[in-house]
Amino acid sequence: MSSSAVAVSEFSNPNLEPLFTSEQIQTRVAEMGAEISRDYAGQTPLLIGVLKGAYIFLSDLVRATDLRLGVEFMAISSYGAGMRSSGEVRIVKDLDVPVDGRDILIVEDIVDTGLTLSFLIGSLHQRGAKSVRLAALLDKHERRERDVKIDYCGFRIPDAFVVGYGLDYAERYRNLPYIAVIKDPSLKD
Ligand code: 5GP
Repeated sequence: MSSSAVAVSEFSNPNLEPLFTSEQIQTRVAEMGAEISRDYAGQTPLLIGVLKGAYIFLSDLVRATDLRLGVEFMAISSYGAGMRSSGEVRIVKDLDVPVDGRDILIVEDIVDTGLTLSFLIGSLHQRGAKSVRLAALLDKHERRERDVKIDYCGFRIPDAFVVGYGLDYAERYRNLPYIAVIKDPSLKD
């Protein structure tokens, strides 16, 4: 770094209002993993992570889940680069394996309007899944437009745009170890 450059910390950016600390997240994910282990004891569930936002949650959740399980990923587009859902849901990356007869646990970062999840749950049932449950780290329940049952919910949050722990704003902030609200989305830095 040159002597005139200013060191700016991404992790303590003043435009971020911390909501959940890394410790709070780890404690809650461990509880969710224990509950999932109890509920699926003796089964071989297939965990489907919804890219990209759920990748960090999924990687912590599987290590908190003492089960024989499979992991697959799907990517669903409904947002583009903005902060509001476009309402149009489509599969951008599909599964590499069949799901018929499988017990599916969808692992999602956040349920907002519910459009993405109601589409995905319907699609997995259509493909012949034996059961479909949902683990979501965050539930922005005030904004729900579709009825979606969250079987394992990390935290309920108010209607604010959150980033960190895998969640982005225009591809930024996924690497924050905690979850924060963006105070002023118009600020670039
Ligand atoms: P839904 O279809 O429920 O409206 O939206 C679900 C998807 O929207 C989530 O998987 C996530 O990608 C995105 N999303 C919704 N709310 C937020 C938010 O507060 N922050 C971020 N980073 N993404 C969000």
